[in-house]
Amino acid sequence: MNMKIKLIIFFSIISWSLSQAQKAKTENVILITLDGMRWQEVFNGAEKRLMTKKFVQDSAALSNAFWNESSVVRREKLMPFFWNTIAKQGQLYGNRHLGNKVNTSNKMWFSYPGYNEILCGFADDERINSNDPTDNPNKNILEFLQAQKEFSGKVAAFTSWETFPCIINTKRSGVPVNAGLMKAEKNPTESEKLLNELMFQQPNITGGTRVDALTFYCGLEYLKKNKPRVLFFSFDETDHWAHEGEYDKYLRAANYTDEFIKILWSWLQSQPKYKNKTTLVITTDHGRGNVNDTDWRHHGSKMLFADEIWFAFLGPDTRAMGEVSVQQQLYQSQIAQTIATLLKVNYIGNKPTGERVSTAIIK
Ligand SMILES: [Zn+2]
Repeated sequence: MNMKIKLIIFFSIISWSLSQAQKAKTENVILITLDGMRWQEVFNGAEKRLMTKKFVQDSAALSNAFWNESSVVRREKLMPFFWNTIAKQGQLYGNRHLGNKVNTSNKMWFSYPGYNEILCGFADDERINSNDPTDNPNKNILEFLQAQKEFSGKVAAFTSWETFPCIINTKRSGVPVNAGLMKAEKNPTESEKLLNELMFQQPNITGGTRVDALTFYCGLEYLKKNKPRVLFFSFDETDHWAHEGEYDKYLRAANYTDEFIKILWSWLQSQPKYKNKTTLVITTDHGRGNVNDTDWRHHGSKMLFADEIWFAFLGPDTRAMGEVSVQQQLYQSQIAQTIATLLKVNYIGNKPTGERVSTAIIK
């Protein structure tokens, strides 16, 4: 084939793919993160070697809930919405056993750098190298959307971790971030009043961080009341219980977070404003170690393999590929542009951003 023909084919593929992206049906995006949730459990379910007395209080009860010899049954027991709905109608990336790899491109392998990479579309290891609550100098996709006429006032975040107002830089971005032990203040509904009470009527097991159930139901109430076009839910307990070395609670947190996503999806699909116009983008900020027996509890740059992560997509523009088995290498930095493409905006970050996950968009 001569060069001219090659070029013509190349450019027609590019313009076909761009025109397909412009046809995207998505009008709303819900971004969801499960802090430090390992790809190993997402794709293989509970791990036998960790279901021991060392990490589990009642291993018989845990086995009963989540164990099966088959990893296909096991993962479905752990995350039924992922495997019964997303795997049938959407896409799951990151099963390294199939050669499908997703990594962070930052070299920090902990939370703030991970969320910076997800939200801004690039790693910034020089400036974002601590979890301290300092305002993020980088512009993020939520902030970019908030500044667009058609999204202004229709972007919000509900997070368990109290540091998110800094990560999203709510002072500069104007994106409302309800984080940690923050009540719903504006004209609370009856449900919000109850959630506000509950927030301070239970043991505070996670410091300034809020338990995920409260984050979820506070965010769900906000969604029903304010009908945002872009909403970010960030759940934390998977990371918390892993650090505590409590594998049973880590698995249960993964299981009820999967349930939150199921409840969310069925509400979205019952609403004309959202039904078949909303894409879920689900991922994690970092992986966890996997060399020694206790490494699953930890992460950070010294923990080999803690940069291994995963993505999931479900929505009207996402082809039903299920568990993606294409041999490829994807990065956390690609999420921001994927969201931008789904919402048909041209996002330009402070630094060059990862390109969209092209297979996640064209139906
Ligand atoms: Zn984290």
